[in-house]
Amino acid sequence: MSSIFTKIIKGEIPSYKVAENDEFYAFLDINPNAKGHTLVVPKQEVNKLFDLDEETYSGLMSFSRKIAIAIEKVIPCNRVGMAVIGLEVPHVHVHLIPLKEMEDIQFTKKVKLEPEEFKAIAKAISENL
Ligand code: AMP
Repeated sequence: MSSIFTKIIKGEIPSYKVAENDEFYAFLDINPNAKGHTLVVPKQEVNKLFDLDEETYSGLMSFSRKIAIAIEKVIPCNRVGMAVIGLEVPHVHVHLIPLKEMEDIQFTKKVKLEPEEFKAIAKAISENL
């Protein structure tokens, strides 16, 4: 069965898309730690980060870097942090999280956003790529 992220990539489940190319897809996390929390996913469905082939792994990092630079232009923060967990969704994804304090990367503090805010954030990041 396809992962939830494969369904998002195929457009079978909606997402707040930030960017896409042939190999990778970036979209806002639906339960964000902070405004601008973005997930970057390889289209190839692989469970664990370090099981990716080296080229896809490097491509994922490079694509994530572009997204992180755009996030930093749009969301006031000290820096963009990166985390890879994957305990909930077994399809490789990089979390890019705008950080003001350590708590922002601890997955305990969550922010609630309205659909309009998600849309506006995704659009702003996308326009700053
Ligand atoms: P983890 O697998 O532990 O790295 O966490 C998976 C992340 O995916 C969590 O931060 C969820 O909020 C996020 N997530 C799960 N389903 C969706 C979805 N449909 N759209 C956006 N983000 C999602």
